Amino acid sequence: MSATILVVEDEPGIQEVLKFNLGQHGHEVLIASDAEEAAALLRNALPDLILLDWMLPGQSGIEFARRVRSDHRLKNVPIIMLTARSEERDKIQGLETGADDYITKPFSPRELMARIKAVLRRRAPQMTEDVVEIAGLRLDPVAHRVFGHQKPLDLGPTEFRLLHFMMTHPERVYSRSQLLDHVWGDHVFVEERTVDVHIRRLRSALEPSGHDALIQTVRGSGYRLSATPA
Ligand code: CA
Repeated sequence: MSATILVVEDEPGIQEVLKFNLGQHGHEVLIASDAEEAAALLRNALPDLILLDWMLPGQSGIEFARRVRSDHRLKNVPIIMLTARSEERDKIQGLETGADDYITKPFSPRELMARIKAVLRRRAPQMTEDVVEIAGLRLDPVAHRVFGHQKPLDLGPTEFRLLHFMMTHPERVYSRSQLLDHVWGDHVFVEERTVDVHIRRLRSALEPSGHDALIQTVRGSGYRLSATPA
């Protein structure tokens, strides 16, 4: 599981440790020293997770978490708060602000990695390597293969990511811009009609086993993967 992780931390020593450890686990790391730098990075790239220090110069981590949660484009990005505070009251405040988890300094890299994995598994199941199966359609992220009723189907890389996201988030409608954020990583440089092009390709790739019927158009809203006919 490799993710893009934004680290917001002002202490250079901890920045280094995090960068090293996350890099060793195959994650791509973006570093910001304060909330404003983080906000600037977030305008260009949407990370899979934010590791956010509580005590930052300028806007605090808690205030920044609140800001992320109130931003339509960023609100679903998982946040793990890093803090020297270990009081229960602070932990509750952190979680109420919208953090997904909380880790107290000093922490072991092993503990941090386990928590990152748990949060990604919960919040972004398409980042994990679990096989998903819906109505006879099976997607194997490790082998990078898709089978419709046991027969291999041929998908391009973007169609594969799109299908993986939709299979791990079934029965929910996603707008074109939400799909761009989740599947392409960001909506800044890609036009929304690109989504329609790849949906069309995905449907034709799924046609041999009849699974194209799972990909439903929801008029005026976007697309949904559902095992129940529209
Ligand atoms: Ca700090």
